[in-house]
Amino acid sequence: MSDCIFCKIINGEIPSDTVYETDSIKVFKDINPAAPVHLVIVPKVHIESINSLDDTNSEVAADCMLAAKKAAEISDISESGYRVISNCGEDAGQTVKHLHFHLIGGVSMGERIL
Ligand code: AMP
Ligand code: ZN
Repeated sequence: MSDCIFCKIINGEIPSDTVYETDSIKVFKDINPAAPVHLVIVPKVHIESINSLDDTNSEVAADCMLAAKKAAEISDISESGYRVISNCGEDAGQTVKHLHFHLIGGVSMGERIL
């Protein structure tokens, strides 16, 4: 996708502060962090959102979850705890139309989600 900001980060056109990478995913620091640790986990294949996952591409979702676990270890928040969030569509406030998971931690977020 030529106009997708995350595809541009993946192909190196736009720089990112990468903390972890595999053949299928990239994890980098969010440019506008909402917490002391705020990483973005992105599959290297362009998939618009969770709505676009199906039997042919869903393995990247598992790759992203394993990357969340690994990135939490690297960021030293495995024990203190963290959230993994994927915004899908307008009501969720999805701004980048390339599937991604926010990894947020380093702060006590309490029991409420909203
Ligand atoms: P969402 O609102 O769920 O679509 O999240 C998109 C996220 O991407 C936001 O938290 C942005 O701060 C983040 N973001 C946008 N551009 C960049 C960039 N160039 N580098 C790192 N994070 C970015
Ligand atoms: Zn993309």
